[in-house]
Amino acid sequence: MRVRVYISGVHSGPNPSSGVGIARSLREAYPNSELIAVDYSNSSSGIHFDVFNDVWINPSWDHIELQKHAQTIEQLLDRGDYWLSSLDLETVWLANSLKSHKNLLVPPSLAIAQTSKPIIPASDSLPFNVPPFISATESDWDIASFCRKHGWNVWLKGPNYEAFKVESWQKFQVIRDELSTRWGTNELFLQAHISGHEESVTLVAYQGNLLDCVLMSKKVLTDIGKTWSASIQPTNEPLTSAVKEIVSGLGWTGGAEIEVVRDTQGRCWIIDWNPRFPAWIYGATIAGSNMPATLLEVASAIPYSRRKLTTLEFTRIVYEIPVLKSFPLPALPEPTPKGYNLVSKHPSGMSSLSAKLNRPLPHSQIGSLPKGILAGIREEAQFWQSCHTPSRIILRQVQKKQFEQFATLAESLSITHDITINVAYSVKTDPSELFISEALQHGMLVEAISLMEAQKAVACGYEKHGIVMNGPAKWWPQNQNDLACDFKVVFADSVEELQSYIGLNVKRIGIRLRPPFVISRFGIPIGQYDVFQSLVHTLKEFPNETELAIHMHIASSIYGVKNWDYIFKDFVSWCASLEHLAKMKVTLIDLGGGWFPDDADMFLFEALNEYTQVAKAQLEQLREIIIEPGKALVQSCMILVTSILEIRNLGDTRDVVIDSSIAELPMVKYQPHRLLIWSNNKLQILGRGVDRILGRLCMEDDILSFGVGFPATLKTGDRIIICDAGAYDRSMSYEFGTGKIQS
Ligand SMILES: *Cc1c(COP(=O)(O)O)cnc(C)c1O
Repeated sequence: MRVRVYISGVHSGPNPSSGVGIARSLREAYPNSELIAVDYSNSSSGIHFDVFNDVWINPSWDHIELQKHAQTIEQLLDRGDYWLSSLDLETVWLANSLKSHKNLLVPPSLAIAQTSKPIIPASDSLPFNVPPFISATESDWDIASFCRKHGWNVWLKGPNYEAFKVESWQKFQVIRDELSTRWGTNELFLQAHISGHEESVTLVAYQGNLLDCVLMSKKVLTDIGKTWSASIQPTNEPLTSAVKEIVSGLGWTGGAEIEVVRDTQGRCWIIDWNPRFPAWIYGATIAGSNMPATLLEVASAIPYSRRKLTTLEFTRIVYEIPVLKSFPLPALPEPTPKGYNLVSKHPSGMSSLSAKLNRPLPHSQIGSLPKGILAGIREEAQFWQSCHTPSRIILRQVQKKQFEQFATLAESLSITHDITINVAYSVKTDPSELFISEALQHGMLVEAISLMEAQKAVACGYEKHGIVMNGPAKWWPQNQNDLACDFKVVFADSVEELQSYIGLNVKRIGIRLRPPFVISRFGIPIGQYDVFQSLVHTLKEFPNETELAIHMHIASSIYGVKNWDYIFKDFVSWCASLEHLAKMKVTLIDLGGGWFPDDADMFLFEALNEYTQVAKAQLEQLREIIIEPGKALVQSCMILVTSILEIRNLGDTRDVVIDSSIAELPMVKYQPHRLLIWSNNKLQILGRGVDRILGRLCMEDDILSFGVGFPATLKTGDRIIICDAGAYDRSMSYEFGTGKIQS
């Protein structure tokens, strides 16, 4: 009896579907079977492969009549043919639209629902962890916080397809927009990257009976992480039994691939459960597990003879095949800036089907603000309701609380650890007299990066020995490095600068280190052997009694708080090595700034206790630790009040033009800002939505928010309050689009 199998999804490229591998496996076991390639575009390259007896190209998912297509497939199944899908969303659609049928070799829809990312409930009893994640419908503020926590080493993933490394706030916003438009859903999520080796548990089952199960370990990957070469082995107990039980509970039919990452400690992290065979499935056939044939054997009761096992490893190659006369290559389209007809662009049209199947999830409409900031804003209501816009307001209570928190922490840690802990306010972050004076009143030092900043601090009442000098051009504009003796401590940014202080008779000399593997333009790159050697030589030229101060400044807002922790501990070991090699006493370490306000509250304050212990344990002569917060002190205490100039109605969404711009808010590309609206005499915190806020500038990139939900009462003249607009949003703001120019 000749068995006929329809196999959908046969594209073969750098990101292939599994149809070709399934067909090769079936052809090997059932030489006389009739295998029909199904796809939804004639650009699917596998249709030309001679493993198939016939080809059935359907209209694209945009044009196909889903109900009619379902009926046609049902008729095929009823006449005794089989259907094996290798397209995830077609599988989902078939499971939802057709009654279960013994010849339909896809899992039931309830079972598929148990495999949804990122939690993948079906895997609950497996010894796998779920990597940390957050839904992309959460507030921008919370999303950015998640990214900083994981050092921006996070993936933005669609519910079924695609994953992109996020890397920065700006990139996140662009990819979020792209993915949700392409897949017609906002059901995206961010997930922390797990470093490790990629493996997968691949299985086949029929009506809840597990038929076979293997473990695949990737050996060579393509640049988008697809398998190129791999090894196969049987799964061990107790994993096999656990899989067997799950499959039985789900009533699974068909193939499945459970993707995991095995980290350096051997823990497995689950990242996906695909409801179909993987594209490399013929690799398992080579290794003696012909899963498509085993499935067909059980479904059809026609036995096949197993091949002799030769090897457990496989690799891919690229080879050319003739194009079918009946399906000549499509005409060349217009070239686009990204090239044309890229083979990596998948032709199966899953994004169109996704848009048809998905209903958008609601955004988290509710924004939030800490009580203190909200209270501060309410206190200033009279001002922001009537002031000229755009206008910046300092929330004094918020500011005082931040300064107090740091000062109190430093004091209590000093007592606990019997060591001086000092806070040095970074002048460049916002050089306002108010903040410098507040720092003075709170018993803080200041940190300056130029003589002019130092002079400003002196004008505000600082003595020179209350000032830390840092940065690459600290004596600009006078170029007088003999001033170094006057300051609290001066950190040389290079070996050359350090050499310039020899013979000055400084009591204590400072250096800024660039730890190995940290990408920075600052500090002495101690990972470079010759530089390290020359650093040690230079230090030895200072008189014996000169003390050594060492600085590191790695922005945790970019590197992530976890990585900051590693880098700090590594830094302390380097300090100990230098102390030993240069035969100098390290009496002071300085930990720089770069802390986002929330992260300072949530992580730094808690960790400083441990950091002090770690430093004291390795540096016996240590007497003082300085931290140099800038934005952690002053970013959240400032708001920018703006007015709405125009509301543009665009169907379901609105574009709102305001009288402010990236010139007043230069950090808008790098971090989110919390927003409030004053409309109809009501002050509301804005949550996410589909409206955009456009700046006043005639510049393409002057977009202040990509997705916010305005109230229905919105009208021109309403005020938008932009929070978190202190620090660099103020000090780096510039004149633009006003006719004025700096001389
Ligand atoms: C800018 C700077 C700081 C402050 O950085 P923030 O990101 O504002 O916390 C601290 N130390 C040095 C040496 C700096 O250059």
